[in-house]
Amino acid sequence: METLQTAKKSLDHKTEVSIGENIVCGGKQLLIIAGPCAVESEEQIDACGAALSKVPVQALRGGVFKPRTSPYAFQGLGEAGVSILKNAGNRYGMPVVAEVMSAEQLKIAVDSFDVLQIGSRNMQNFELLKAVSHTRKPVLLKRGLAATVDEFLMAAEYIMAGGNTQVILCERGIRSFDSHTRNVLDLGAVVSLKQLTHLPVIVDPSHAAGRSELVADLARAAVACGADGVMIECHPQPLKSVSDARQALSLDEMSELIYSLSLVASAVGRTVQTSRTGPWAGGQLTEKIIVS
Ligand code: PEP
Ligand code: MN
Repeated sequence: METLQTAKKSLDHKTEVSIGENIVCGGKQLLIIAGPCAVESEEQIDACGAALSKVPVQALRGGVFKPRTSPYAFQGLGEAGVSILKNAGNRYGMPVVAEVMSAEQLKIAVDSFDVLQIGSRNMQNFELLKAVSHTRKPVLLKRGLAATVDEFLMAAEYIMAGGNTQVILCERGIRSFDSHTRNVLDLGAVVSLKQLTHLPVIVDPSHAAGRSELVADLARAAVACGADGVMIECHPQPLKSVSDARQALSLDEMSELIYSLSLVASAVGRTVQTSRTGPWAGGQLTEKIIVS
């Protein structure tokens, strides 16, 4: 495709996306993002931050503007949620990742979020892509529910064409004829994207699987096939999650998963990042980690 100028150029030089002060995505170290589907309350996010900051999770996620299929479903806490998330990030020294669905929400959130997530449903919202392209914040661009790899790359191109080169691609499963899993995790696309572009590629196994018991194995498979990181939904009381309850890991399950991810990472020449300030700063992952 002749217009793919930015995403494909300089393949010999991989783009490393900087998040917060000392997190990098796209280098040897994996980026692990975890947190609930939605920010529900200060207590809920605080419990997540307290547990996840004890293990090598580099960034805290939580939606405050939620794209819900039904207009009657919980739409997120909105502006009130922005400060709840940001304060938890500050309290636990973790950068925060959250979705924006419009240019108006971007104005409210741009100074508070460390990574701007563009959700699957908005991958081809070109005005939104242009709006984030004018910021200098890292963008986590999720693949559309039924987007081809070329369309995905073109969406990334919109962001880079506007001057923001800090783009992380995220495979989160695509629609297929089979609804056995919520979506079909396209790891072939992950391998291909790594060969086609210089951008980091991460995987969200939670929205792909739709069921918590599938998430850990898919996360390990993602790391094994070369993903630069994973984003995983977890919750202090998974079955009480107001959205996506069925796919949420408990905080203990999330923490245990990191140990096995670190083993797979070392098998493929990667490491789990332990440089974030906190109890794990510079620490060694030598044994199973359980959040106390
Ligand atoms: C999310 O990450 O909260 C989300 C809504 O994901 P997706 O856009 O992939 O459905
Ligand atoms: Mn979700």
